[in-house]
Amino acid sequence: MNAYVQRVLEDLGKRYGDQPEFVQAATEILTTLSPVVDKHPEYEKAGLLERYVEPERIVIFRVPWLDDRNQVQVNRGYRVQFNSAIGPYKGGLRLHPSVNLSIIKFLGLEQILKNSLTGLPIGGGKGGSDFDPKGRSDAEVMRFCQSFMTELYRHIGKDVDVPAGDIGVGGREIGYLYGQYKRITGLYEGVLTGKGLSYGGSLARKEATGYGLCYFIQAMMKRNGLTPEGMTAVISGSGNVAIYAAEKITSMGARVVAMSDSNGYVYDPAGIRLDVVKDIKEVHRGRIREYAERVQGSEYHEGFRGIWTIPCQIALPCSTQNEINEESARTLVRNGVKVVGEGANMPSTLEATKVFQDAKVLFGPAKAANAGGVATSALEMSQNSLRLAWTFQEVDERLHTIMTDIFDKVAKAAEEYAESGDYVAGANIAGFLKVADAMMAQGVV
Ligand code: NDP
Repeated sequence: MNAYVQRVLEDLGKRYGDQPEFVQAATEILTTLSPVVDKHPEYEKAGLLERYVEPERIVIFRVPWLDDRNQVQVNRGYRVQFNSAIGPYKGGLRLHPSVNLSIIKFLGLEQILKNSLTGLPIGGGKGGSDFDPKGRSDAEVMRFCQSFMTELYRHIGKDVDVPAGDIGVGGREIGYLYGQYKRITGLYEGVLTGKGLSYGGSLARKEATGYGLCYFIQAMMKRNGLTPEGMTAVISGSGNVAIYAAEKITSMGARVVAMSDSNGYVYDPAGIRLDVVKDIKEVHRGRIREYAERVQGSEYHEGFRGIWTIPCQIALPCSTQNEINEESARTLVRNGVKVVGEGANMPSTLEATKVFQDAKVLFGPAKAANAGGVATSALEMSQNSLRLAWTFQEVDERLHTIMTDIFDKVAKAAEEYAESGDYVAGANIAGFLKVADAMMAQGVV
C-alpha cells in the first residue's frame, strides 16, 4: 500500500476508532486508491487525502416533538456536508433507530464518489435521525419532520445542499419536510428531491435506484457474456430499492424467489408476486411475513440473514450496511452465485467482498450500482430549475444511459489502474479522480 495512504488510514483509525462504519468505508476506498496516489505525488503535498476524509461541516441538533399521547420525545438530527468540490452537497436523509455519526459519515463519504460517478455536478452529503417511523401515526411522523426541518432549513438550499430519501424516508416524509421548508423560508424551490409529482417531483425517481441497479448489472453481465434471462434472483429488503429492483430484474427475464425485511424473509419458488409485496409495503406499511399468509406455496422464515442461504445466480442486497458477512458470502458462492449487485450502501463487509472477488463473482459495488437514485435526483433538480417536467420514458432513458456510462467508466478505471474486472477499485478510482482534480484546482480549502 502507498505510504501516504497508509499514514492517513492509521491516523483515521486512531482519531475515529469509535466510528467503525466510517473507518470501514474509508479503508475500502483509500486502499484501492493506492495506485492513483502513486501516480500523483502532488496529492500528499496538498494534504488532499487528509482533507478528503474530513467533512467540510457537520451539524448535529436536537429534534423535540410531541407524540400522540402528548408526551415529549427527543431525537438527534444530523447533516454531514462532506464535500462540495464538484457541486452542492447532495445525499439522502435516513430515519432509523441505528443512526449515529459513524453511519452518517460512512454514507456521506460513499456519496462523494457515487455522485461524482454520475457525471452530474453534485457534491456529497448525508443526514438523518435516530427517529424510528415504524408504528408511528402519520401525525407523529409529520410533527417529527416539521421539528427536524425547523433546524435543518438554515443549512440547506437549492444551490447549497439538497437532501433526498433513504431508509425510512419516502414520499410521505419528503412531503412533510418540504411543506415545512416552504412555510419557514417562503421559497418554492427544489431544495429536496423525491418530491411528489404534484409539487415538483420527477417521474421515475421512485423507481430509479432499483431500475438503475439492474441497468448496471445488465451492462456488467453483458461485458462478461451473461444475461439475467432465466436466472434466479434473491433480493433482500422490501423497501423502495428492493421493490423496483425486483420489478426491473423480472422484466429482464430473471425470477425473484425471495425478499425480506428486518424481521425475516419469504421464499416463493414460483416467483415473488410483486403486486402482493407492494400492497403489503407501499399501501399498508405491513410486514413481509404477511406475504406467506396471502400466497400459497410460499414460506416465511424469521431472521433477515437466512435469505442468503437460498440458492441463486443473482444476489441483490437492498436493505442495509453489512447485511452480507463473510459466512453469508461463502454460502452464496457455494450455492453458485454469479452476480452480486449492491443496491444498499456497503451491504457487504470487507471480508465478504473479498470472498466474492476471490471467487470471481461479478461484483457491482454500491457506489456505482446504486447511483441511479441520486442521478435521477439530479435530473429532478434540473427539471425544477427549468420549470419543466420530463416524461417517464425520457427520465428512464437518461437513467439507462447514465448507468451504462458509469459501468464503462468503472470498467475502464479498473483496467487502467487495478485489475480488469475489479469494479470495486474501478468505482473508487473513477469517482475519486474528478473530485481530486477539482480539489487540487480550488486550492487548500
Ligand atoms: P426503505 O426504508 O424503503 O427500505 C429499507 C428496507 O431494508 C426495508 O425492507 C427494511 O426492513 C430493511 N432494513 C432496514 N434496516 C435494516 C436492518 N438494520 N436490518 C435488516 N433489514 C433492514 O429504504 P430504501 O429502499 O430507500 O434503502 C435501502 C438501501 O438502499 C439503504 O442501504 C439505502 O442507503 C440504499 N440506497 C437507497 C437509495 C434510494 O434512492 N432510496 C439510493 C441509494 C442507496 P424494515 O421495514 O423491517 O425496517
